[in-house]
Amino acid sequence: IRNLVIVLGDQLNHDSAALDDFDNQRDRVWMAENQEEATHVWCHKFRLVAFFAPMRHFRDELDEKGRQVLYHALPTDGRKARTSSFASLLTTTLNEHDVQKMIVVHPGDHRVLESLKTVADEQNVTLEIRDDRHFYCTIDQFRDWADGRNSLVLETFYRHMRKQHDVLIDGGDPVSGVWNHDKENRGTFGKSGPSDLPHTHHFRPDDVTQDVIDMVNQRFDDHPGKVDASSFDLPVTRSEALTLLREFIKHRLIHFGDYQDAMWSDQKYLYHSRLSHAINLHLLSPREVVDKAIAAFDSGEAPINSVEGFVRQILGWREFVRGIYWTHMPDYQDRNALQCDDDQDVPSFFWDGKTDMACVADAMRLLIETGYAHHIQRLMVLGLFAQLYGTHPAKFHQWHMAMYNDAVDWVSLPNALGMSQWGDGGLMATKPYCASGKYIKRMGNYCKGCRFNPDEATGDDACPFTTLYWDFLDRHQQQFKNNTRMTMQLKNLQRKDASQMNAIRDRAQMIRRDELDL
Ligand code: FAD
Ligand code: SF4
Repeated sequence: IRNLVIVLGDQLNHDSAALDDFDNQRDRVWMAENQEEATHVWCHKFRLVAFFAPMRHFRDELDEKGRQVLYHALPTDGRKARTSSFASLLTTTLNEHDVQKMIVVHPGDHRVLESLKTVADEQNVTLEIRDDRHFYCTIDQFRDWADGRNSLVLETFYRHMRKQHDVLIDGGDPVSGVWNHDKENRGTFGKSGPSDLPHTHHFRPDDVTQDVIDMVNQRFDDHPGKVDASSFDLPVTRSEALTLLREFIKHRLIHFGDYQDAMWSDQKYLYHSRLSHAINLHLLSPREVVDKAIAAFDSGEAPINSVEGFVRQILGWREFVRGIYWTHMPDYQDRNALQCDDDQDVPSFFWDGKTDMACVADAMRLLIETGYAHHIQRLMVLGLFAQLYGTHPAKFHQWHMAMYNDAVDWVSLPNALGMSQWGDGGLMATKPYCASGKYIKRMGNYCKGCRFNPDEATGDDACPFTTLYWDFLDRHQQQFKNNTRMTMQLKNLQRKDASQMNAIRDRAQMIRRDELDL
């Protein structure tokens, strides 16, 4: 074999740089489903199908293009997989074939990158790592941008990206006169709730996906969640992913901005795109997604607040978190700025959703059923609870990797450990996203149907978020005393008298020790 081209599970792109000079006769593609990847975090069954089914479809497409693929599939019949780890599978291939060179596009997981380098060294085979063209910003470009800056601020990076890539720019300035439409993007669904929400496309599993569903249910039956043909509805090919993109642009983008921060019970996607899984697996490119959104603005189908809000997520946040990840790994994963206890894990109801807290129960139900929760549920319900509860940020990230079908290390770690848990001490967010139950009350209808009261911090009806919020500020007030963005919150804390604070501390302690029936 001249070149062994390694295609990882989140690199399913026929235009990938790894395939640039592929020779159908002399080269081989190498892909592997492996037990270790699926079990190093205790993955949700839905998530396993969300990764393995697109891989098998991509293998079949390569095959149709005449590309020879060495594909390691996990067997359905329960026989032990040939060998379990990524490194050992690759080593076996290198021992069985005379490989002159390995080629890979830069992986999205630091651990996988190191593992590849180790195998290449041990087997004495050249490893060529190519830049991932999928992203707007290369890792080196981000490092250059970050170099010498005291703080890395999303807004500055985002404006730089808009100008550099001429996105929503007119003569060097933003097309609408302002860079940021966030103020228009904090709408709620009022008292009556959302009406006429657009229909959601359900992609029916074909035989290939059904085989994966069977394999996952049989091989990983003790993993969390469940998956079957009626529940699995994600795109598994580029063509399906394009259908999902069209659906979003046509029906949801119009209100994406207005309701970006809103929540409503029993609703899955509201006006969110649900595209993260397809983009992260590289079934879609961020450029085509952004271009389609801008075309909708140009044709008058979508307003600027929605289009700018959406572009900000893809061209801004998504590229920013990747830059943060690769600029600060590997030490980033060990950061624990709030000094949470090493063994403080997520609460048990983060696995089964069994809690009376209406907001948590609803977000968990969706997560268990579909491997999805929208951004505000992630950040301001589940992430917020984990943070106030004192969960160790690495444990929260591991839980996140296990549960969400769009979780890949480069994007989950900065969002989970950094943005949500403030584990990186302010790289991702200048202040922690901490709030009481009153925030959740304002942004949706959860509190109406809940046995707890978001306005109370103590007593039997006290909302656990509210109790833990004051306790969080109390525990970390020294750390935040010089953070001007926290001044207001800390001032409010000072207004609590000593007996109130003692009652709050006691109740928070009981919540953390799982002594209360939540
Ligand atoms: P939409 O709301 O429709 O947003 C559009 C797109 O913007 C998304 O598809 C995504 O590609 C991108 N995007 C938006 N916000 C971010 C962000 N903060 N970082 C990166 N991309 C963003 N996103 C992941 O793709 N994988 C993760 O593992 C992940 N972990 C997260 C963990 C936490 C605790 C939080 C708070 C956020 C996380 N995010 C993650 C970011 C974001 O919540 C999801 O991208 C989004 O909810 C996916 O749903 P959607 O496709 O409907 O997104
Ligand atoms: Fe969530 Fe508290 Fe509101 Fe209940 S009262 S839904 S726990 S914020």
